[in-house]
Amino acid sequence: MRLNTEWALEVGDSVLCRFDALPLDRDGVRRAIGLRPSTNNGARWEKAIDELEKPLRGLARGRALIRIEPVASLQSRRLTLAHGPVIEGAVGQFLAHSQLVALFIATIGSGVERLSRRWLRNGNVVRGLVADAIASELAESAAFLAQQAVRAWALSHQMDITPRYSPGYCGMSVRQQTVLFSELPARQIGVQLSASCLMTPVKSVSGIIGIAPASQVTPEDYPCGRCDHPNCMQRRVPFESRRGSCVDWSDCGVPPPPTHETEGD
Ligand code: SF4
Repeated sequence: MRLNTEWALEVGDSVLCRFDALPLDRDGVRRAIGLRPSTNNGARWEKAIDELEKPLRGLARGRALIRIEPVASLQSRRLTLAHGPVIEGAVGQFLAHSQLVALFIATIGSGVERLSRRWLRNGNVVRGLVADAIASELAESAAFLAQQAVRAWALSHQMDITPRYSPGYCGMSVRQQTVLFSELPARQIGVQLSASCLMTPVKSVSGIIGIAPASQVTPEDYPCGRCDHPNCMQRRVPFESRRGSCVDWSDCGVPPPPTHETEGD
């Protein structure tokens, strides 16, 4: 894995990262659309992906804000930063052993999602849905590159990182966005938080990454094997029923499965 060492992250500082070329996971785009290999008219969706990938990657403005802070205490559902702010959720599962955390907000700007909405409004459903799926995957790439930057910093300090943990997912209320937005100057990258804690542009990702001694954490250590969420589309490990539930996902914003049929526009 290539790690990004371009940005000089420092404890206590908010650092703005710009990503010139965001990679696109085309399989992720297909999954987001609900495109299956057996679909008869899959070719027209593939053609739309081919046509839109390059221009939409050019339109995306990948940026992220990252701030690393020391942890004062970490309990199963409550993490307190050394300078006072408190983050609540399944932090004991996702961020176990963390001595520091990196708070981040990543975005691709609003250009691609505005184009997607315009196409949908005008009845061009194939282009609109493909653009929306590409935008989601590019936002995920921006978050991944931010994660790589944090990991490069951690490894240079003989540490490693936990998985990313985002408000609205896996038992962390979306209201925890207010903590992240009070710690990071989100306007610098054009991201705003609504009264209901939704981000604008929508194609933005925020979250927390734990940093701990390398022998204690890995970025792939998701607690999905112990989580009994019934229909989570982000599940990364099969549920091991005998291990019970580790995550209170009742407050979780995991989105429902995509239902778009790959029929006409
Ligand atoms: S199964 Fe889903 S809700 Fe549960 S920990 Fe994994 S990603 Fe989170």
